[in-house]
Amino acid sequence: MPRRMPAALRVVAIVASCLAFTAALAAAPDERFVVLVTLDGVRVQELFGGMDPVIADAPAEQSGIYDMAVTRPRWWRETPEARREALMPFFWKTLAPAGLVLGNPTLACPVTVKNEQWFSYPGYSEMMTGEPQAEVTSNDLVRYPHRTVLEHARESLGLGYHEVAQIGSWDGLKYAASSRDGAFFMNGGHDPVPTELSTPAIDQYVDLRRQVQQFWEETSSDVLTWRIAREYLQKNRPRVLWLGLGQSDDWAHARRYDLVLDYLHIADSLLADLWQTLQSMEPYRGRTTLIVTTDHGRGRTPADWAEHDFGIAGSEDIWIAIIGPDTPATGEARDCAGVTQGTVAATMLQHLGLDWKQFNPEAAAPVPGSLRANP
Ligand SMILES: [Zn+2]
Repeated sequence: MPRRMPAALRVVAIVASCLAFTAALAAAPDERFVVLVTLDGVRVQELFGGMDPVIADAPAEQSGIYDMAVTRPRWWRETPEARREALMPFFWKTLAPAGLVLGNPTLACPVTVKNEQWFSYPGYSEMMTGEPQAEVTSNDLVRYPHRTVLEHARESLGLGYHEVAQIGSWDGLKYAASSRDGAFFMNGGHDPVPTELSTPAIDQYVDLRRQVQQFWEETSSDVLTWRIAREYLQKNRPRVLWLGLGQSDDWAHARRYDLVLDYLHIADSLLADLWQTLQSMEPYRGRTTLIVTTDHGRGRTPADWAEHDFGIAGSEDIWIAIIGPDTPATGEARDCAGVTQGTVAATMLQHLGLDWKQFNPEAAAPVPGSLRANP
């Protein structure tokens, strides 16, 4: 049986252990966190211009708008700026002015997919590895041997299993996230969360995911995916998180332009909730870079806006937004041709303070101008 410590020493020991606990919780001022959010198949037309007149004015069988008397007053405004602010108010009134947004074709700032597939898995693979991977030519749920930026970040920073996390509404993201099973915490569209990383609320959301019906059976509700991610953030404090949302692509493939617009407004509120959550808690407040992007665009015409694939013009057009303590508040970028999807990997590493060339010297360079000159 251990000998009892004198009372005075016990106080010293308690104070010392409290201090050690506080130190372990508090991040160093220069410690950095990165959250990547992907919104599947969101076109530049809606992101930069809100409700697209080309689709809005198309016959109902091409737009799929169920009731124009509901949709037009909800989302139509006279200018592209007013339309995009109505559709995504957090993105345009908070995120963009305080950060950097690339991809507006009207500002000579195209951002493009470099792979020659123009659909999801090849796009996510290009983001995760920094360059197109020629053998990724389908959305099949298989792993490829390419090491990803998430694996590299975990190894380089010496992070625990739970400190790098991928949480998404589609299983394909889990395969694109890593070259091997179990490389870090990965959660597919319907996976439970292991007890030691879960909370009662997470278990409830996982249950709801099975019951809330989706348009396509391989995906799950983005709202529930976000709720799981929020709980995961609060409990496990990952250093790097990839949150993958996908209902934008689902409603577009279903050719329901009204639901695409309604969804983008919801997705914007999830981004607002995410940013507010990060800024309201340690260690994320003031130390976290948020990167938001998409895996591919879609067609530009009333006939093909619902689809995307190599050869459907517009499917290669994507966009990237960055906000965080090390990114200047320059707003919308102009004249930035040459930025490709692979930039996501190097940009994530740059914001974690890591050298992206050590990850993959062939990777696309970080987004130009995304790092403040003198942080
Ligand atoms: Zn798709």
